[in-house]
Parts: sequence; C-alpha cells; structure tokens
Amino acid sequence: MPQGLNPNVFDLLSQTDRSLGLMPLPWALRATPPLPRPPSLPGGKAPPGVTGPPGALGKPRRFVGTDPIAVIANNAHKFGLDPAAVLAYALEESGARYGAVGDNGTSFGPFQAHIGGAAGSRSPQAASAWANSPQGLIQMMGMMARGGARGLRGDAAVRAIYSGFGKGTPLAVPRGLARYSDAQHMLGTGSQPSAAPVNRNTATQVTTLFGNIRPRVIGVPYQGTHGKAFNVRGGSDNWESENAVDFSVPIGTPIYALADGTIGSQIGSLGTGGRFAGLRLHLVGAGNEWYYAHLSRLVVQAGQRVRRGQLLGYSGEANGVPHLHLASKRGSPPQ
Ligand SMILES: [Zn+2]
Repeated sequence: MPQGLNPNVFDLLSQTDRSLGLMPLPWALRATPPLPRPPSLPGGKAPPGVTGPPGALGKPRRFVGTDPIAVIANNAHKFGLDPAAVLAYALEESGARYGAVGDNGTSFGPFQAHIGGAAGSRSPQAASAWANSPQGLIQMMGMMARGGARGLRGDAAVRAIYSGFGKGTPLAVPRGLARYSDAQHMLGTGSQPSAAPVNRNTATQVTTLFGNIRPRVIGVPYQGTHGKAFNVRGGSDNWESENAVDFSVPIGTPIYALADGTIGSQIGSLGTGGRFAGLRLHLVGAGNEWYYAHLSRLVVQAGQRVRRGQLLGYSGEANGVPHLHLASKRGSPPQ
C-alpha cells in the first residue's frame, strides 16, 4: 500500500476500480514514473503553463511550460490540428492531466494511449512514461494529424481524433464533443470572453478551499468513481458527479467558498447514504458553478450571498471514506 494512503480509501477505490474493470489505484500510485509536471506550488504562485491572462475575445492566452494544456496550445498548430479539439479529447480522456491510467492499466497519459495502439508495444511502465511526457503528447498529435484530423475544426476535428485513435465509442464521442467549449475557454480561443477565469491559479483555489492544508487528491475527473459509466450505472449522470475531484480530509475540516457567489437551491441531504452520504450545496459564481458534497455540517442556506473564502460548512464522509467531493461546472476543479 502506498505510504500514507488511508486504508479505507485503498479499499474503496480498489474495489470500485475492480468492479469497473479499471486500473486498481494502488498500482497507478506506485508505478507512475516521475512526471514532467509542474512542481507543487507554494501558496499563490501561478502554475507554469497557466501564466497568460484569462481568455478574452480575439486574444488567445499565451502558455509556457510542460503542462498538457501548454503542450497542446503550443504544438497543435504545427500539425494543422485544432487545439481546442485536441484539448477536448484530452479533457474527456484524462482531465488533461499527466499521470492518468485507465482500461486495466493498458492506457496512459492525457490522451490515454493504449498499449497495442498509440503506445505501441511498450511495457506498461514505458508506455506510461512516454504518454505522460510532452514528447509523447507531441508525437500523439502527429498521429492525430495522420489519422485524419489535420485541417479540421470544431466537432469534425473531435470526431476525427476519436475515429483516428479507434475510440469512436457511442459514449466517448459525445463526452469529447461536450468538452470542446471548455477547451476553448481554457485556451482562450472561444467566441465568448470568459466571465471569470477558471483554474487560473489552482494553488490559490485549494488554499481558498481549505485554508492552509493541502490534502491528497484521491479521485480525479472522469475516472473511477467519477467515470461516466460508473455514474450512469449508479443513477447519476452530470457534471456534479463527473467533473469532480475528491480531497482526502478528516471529517470536520472547515470548507470555504471558492468565489463570491450565491448558494444554490439544491442544498442539504444527498439522500441515500453510501456514495450519496452527507450534505451538499451548489455555489453559483459569476463565471462558474461549484458543487460541494458529503459535508457533515452546513453553515449557509439556499439563496445566501457569500464571499470568496467564507466558511460554508465542514467536511464529512461517503462510503466510509472521509473526503470532500468538489465539482466544477466549467473547467476542471482545482487539485
Ligand atoms: Zn467524488
């Protein structure tokens, strides 16, 4: 068992992942090689790759660093690819984050390269190292271009990437198409100016959420218990379930508002216990909406105006695992 991992989390996630046919989490934690991801970010410092201004009409953001978003933004055009289509695909496959593992440990990285497919005949370790590197992402963009996505834009480009990688499943393609506007927003190439920057500074967001503590992330968007298939089977199918992270925090940890906003009308008990245990609330901000779940206590009410950093309540647990489930309607939630 990886050091420091809550044994309950180990049990919960390895069980759910097994039942889904996904990679058992402990393997993923152990075997993930050192990644070229940005170093951990001490309070308030903007992460590499996200240093540009928020997207504005006609003024694409500038990206630096080796973050997958920066790699896509800076290289897609070299292959004649629509960067928003490439990022939409990555968001759907992995949340566009290094370190992702899926499909029984045979697909890796932001583009989920399969052994036997894009990852070739590499060993799982080598496939993971390659698919989670900037060089791997760039090479896979070359494959996307050769696979038919060159010169296409929008929905046609997203569809061509799926079909070129042989992933044109009825479930996946609509999910990828649905991420296109998120991708445009993140790249600053959309036709709408962003009302509020999403994830411009995840370190600051996590600090806002929890104060001084930086909890371990035990669940990521669109995978495992946040997977579409898992949620459809479990009776939920929405961004609140899927575009979410789980933070491992002790029960009773104070939880704060990520932004100025209003508490939504869907508030209170989640209902049935188990994975629907505890209390939940929606925070509706100017350019985004967040969903907090499994709280043990709320100190706000529907319709209440709150300020960024204001106490909303205290964390609880679900399925016996103390954690906060936090979802973001637009852009990925902070990690
Ligand atoms: Zn969750």
